[in-house]
Amino acid sequence: MERKGLLLVFSGPSGTGKGTVCKALVEGNLDLRLSISATTRSPRTGEVEGVNYIFLKKEDFKRMIAEGQFLEWAKVYGNYYGTPLPFIQKALEKGNDMMLEIDIQGAFQVREKIPEAVLIFVAPPSMADLKLRLNARGADSPEEIQKRLCCAIEEMKLACEYDYVIINDEVARAVEQAQAIIKAEKCRARYLKTYLAKLISM
Ligand code: 5GP
Repeated sequence: MERKGLLLVFSGPSGTGKGTVCKALVEGNLDLRLSISATTRSPRTGEVEGVNYIFLKKEDFKRMIAEGQFLEWAKVYGNYYGTPLPFIQKALEKGNDMMLEIDIQGAFQVREKIPEAVLIFVAPPSMADLKLRLNARGADSPEEIQKRLCCAIEEMKLACEYDYVIINDEVARAVEQAQAIIKAEKCRARYLKTYLAKLISM
């Protein structure tokens, strides 16, 4: 059955566990691929070039912006992040489903350019829970955590603009909900438009 891939965009405040949900989704679905973003932030311990991110110098990132090489890009917590366009384009044209894990500014840029993209917001069960998770992760300084919590409130205000919201109180349940969203999206009439047109032209 010939059709374009599904573009799923996941966002949510830092520490909501969206990365864990996305990883579990990819592991359970061979047709689904997670896009690798480019960033100017320094690698964290254990992060691998080309696996977690493509780590770039600021001037290289800016050159790529000027050359129109990003589907979307944004400055998040003082660093630049962007989704390289060619890989996404090729994957979708081949019919592969793609997943982006990006911030809200980026998500709305994707919606502008690709209106059929499915925007999914991963929310924490409570702000107290989010604070606990950010502290437990131990990846950021107290100042950085405070900055991320303030941003989280602003991000949560925009959750209603998304197509779906998943409350991540338990990873297995969140993954199940994401799988249900993918199934439903694949039954959408607009998604099956080309297939249906072919059926009646035979
Ligand atoms: P972190 O530095 O913790 O890996 O990511 C910080 C934030 O940047 C997260 O909210 C993450 O979703 C977002 N992010 C990661 N890659 C991209 C990207 O390609 N584009 C945009 N707009 N945001 C991204």
